[in-house]
Amino acid sequence: MKYEAFKNKVWLATPTMHGEEMKYVQQAYDTNWMSTVGENINEVEKQICGFVGCKYAVGLSCGTSALHLAVKLAGVKPGDNVFCTDMTFSATVNPVLYEKANPIFIDTEYDTWNMDPAALEKAFELYPDTRVVIVANLYGTPAKMEELCAIARKHNAILIEDAAESLGATYKGRQTGTFGDYNAISFNGNKIITGSSGGMLLTDDLEAANKARKWSTQSRENAPWYQHEEVGYNYRMSNVIAGVIRGQLPYLGDHVARKKAIYTRYKEGFRDLPVTMNPYDPETMEPNFWLSCMLIDRDAMCPQVRDDARGLYVSEKGKTCPTEILETLAAYNAEGRPIWKPMHMQPIFRMHPFITREGNGRGRTNAYIAGEGADVGADIFARGLCLPSDIKMTAEEQDKIIEIIRACFD
Ligand SMILES: *Cc1c(COP(=O)(O)O)cnc(C)c1O
Repeated sequence: MKYEAFKNKVWLATPTMHGEEMKYVQQAYDTNWMSTVGENINEVEKQICGFVGCKYAVGLSCGTSALHLAVKLAGVKPGDNVFCTDMTFSATVNPVLYEKANPIFIDTEYDTWNMDPAALEKAFELYPDTRVVIVANLYGTPAKMEELCAIARKHNAILIEDAAESLGATYKGRQTGTFGDYNAISFNGNKIITGSSGGMLLTDDLEAANKARKWSTQSRENAPWYQHEEVGYNYRMSNVIAGVIRGQLPYLGDHVARKKAIYTRYKEGFRDLPVTMNPYDPETMEPNFWLSCMLIDRDAMCPQVRDDARGLYVSEKGKTCPTEILETLAAYNAEGRPIWKPMHMQPIFRMHPFITREGNGRGRTNAYIAGEGADVGADIFARGLCLPSDIKMTAEEQDKIIEIIRACFD
C-alpha cells in the first residue's frame, strides 16, 4: 500500500450530533413523556411542515412505515400494478409487497439517476390501468418532478414521493417531499439529519393525514373502549426520538452545506480522471448532496463480474472498476458502497416487469458488464459507486481518499 491506512475509519455517512439533541431527550425524560405522545413530536411535525411547505406531517417510526401508509392511502389493493423507481433502496418498494400488490420497475435516466419520464410514459402505454407511481430521489438529487408529475396527472395516477434521502433538496425552488399526493421522509441514522430512526408522512390532504394518524396508532375508533373497524399498526414516532430530531433540525442547512463541500471537493479532485460525479441539473435543482457518487467512463472500466454475492475484476493499466476501488478503500479503512443494485436485478423481483423507454427491458439487462447493451440501471450499477461522504471527514482525509482513488487508475 502506498499510504498508511486511516487510524479512524472514514465512513460513508454516520450521524453528526450537536448537543441540543440531549436537551430535548432529557426534557422528554424529565416530563415523563417517554411515549409516542409529547411535545417533541408536536414540535417536529410543526417544524417540518414549516420547512418543507406542506400542510400536514405525521411522525412515524420510520420512513418505511410512512411509505406503507402512503401506499394504503393511495388505495393500492392486492394484485394492483404500481410503477416504482428501479434503482433505489428496497424500502421504496417493500410496502407495495406488504399490500400484496405488484411492483413494475421503471428504468433510470442518466441526468439525475432517477426514474426516467420517457420510460414511465412507456409503462402507461403497456399497463394503462395503473393508478399509482412511487418516485424516489436518489442520493439527495431530485427526480425530474415536473415531467413525472405531469405524466402521472395525465394518466390519473396518484404520485407517492420517497424523499427519504432528499430532505432539504429543492426542485424549481420547491422542497422535495411536496411533489407527491403522499410523501415520505426518513430520520434513519445515516440520513442527512437523524433521530436514530423515525420518519414522517407528508401531505396537504387533511383526511389522509388523519387516517395515517389513526392507522399508525392501532386504528382505534372514537369510543370509551378499544373499538376497531379496520386493521391498525404500531407506527407512531417516539417522543424520545422526536427529541433527537428536534435537536438536529436547526442543523439541516449546515449539514447540506457540508455535504455540498464534500461533493465539490471530490469533483475538483477527479477533474482530470475519466469519471463523472452523480449528476444534477443546476438550472432546476439544488440537491442535498447526501451521498457523493462517481461513475467511471466506459472506456476506463477494467473487466469486472458480479454474481449474487461477490465481485471479481482483472486489474488493467489506466483502468479500474467499482469493485477494485471499494476493496482498495476498505484496505485503507474507508467505507464506500456500490450503487443501489436495481430492483429488477434482485432475485426477489425476478418475475416482475421492468420497463425502459423502449419497452420491456428484461432482454437488455446485463448485470455484469457495463456498456451500451445494458439498461441504464444495470449500467450505473456496474460503473458507479458511493464515496465516503461523512460530514465529520476532514479535508485532509478526503484529499487522501482522492489520492487513493486516483492511484486505482494508474
Ligand atoms: C432510508 C430509505 C428509506 C427508508 O427509511 P427508513 O427510515 O430507514 O425506514 C426509504 N427509501 C429510501 C430511498 C431510503 O434511502
